[in-house]
Amino acid sequence: MSEKNTRSKKLGDKNDLRIKAIENGTVIDHITPGQALNVLKIISVGENFKNTVSVVMNAGGARGDKDVVKIEGKELTEKEVAAISLLSPKATVNIIRDFIVIEKKQVKTPECVNGIIKCLNPNCISNSNEPIDSRFFVKECHTGALLLRCAYCESVMTENLMMNFK
Ligand SMILES: [Zn+2]
Repeated sequence: MSEKNTRSKKLGDKNDLRIKAIENGTVIDHITPGQALNVLKIISVGENFKNTVSVVMNAGGARGDKDVVKIEGKELTEKEVAAISLLSPKATVNIIRDFIVIEKKQVKTPECVNGIIKCLNPNCISNSNEPIDSRFFVKECHTGALLLRCAYCESVMTENLMMNFK
């Protein structure tokens, strides 16, 4: 067992209040520092969510600062994992059952996102009363930032994605 595993096991045994173990649910780890609350917003965990949610911001780890979110009693859909990747491309999603991590996956930026982000163009058909979900093609530009192009009106969005969640 590596030193790191031993250390995290000890933390679990102590039931550390800072990063309390959860019984069933999801741990989103390695979130870009400062994005934890936006991650909760994009997966619709807000005031109507009644289970325990723990948020750790700027947690020091071997890989540097990160945010961590633990959500009791919720597993994420593919769509939610894709949404998280837009905010935090290095995040990992751990599914916990009976206090054990049964699955750990790295988020992957999708080629296209549907129904998550609202088009900036007020005249876009996805903003009309038509029953049409928003749809964006995702490209990474040379700076590493993500570029989203609306499939209907070709509007392009770069920054402040989090301001336009549906
Ligand atoms: Zn549009």
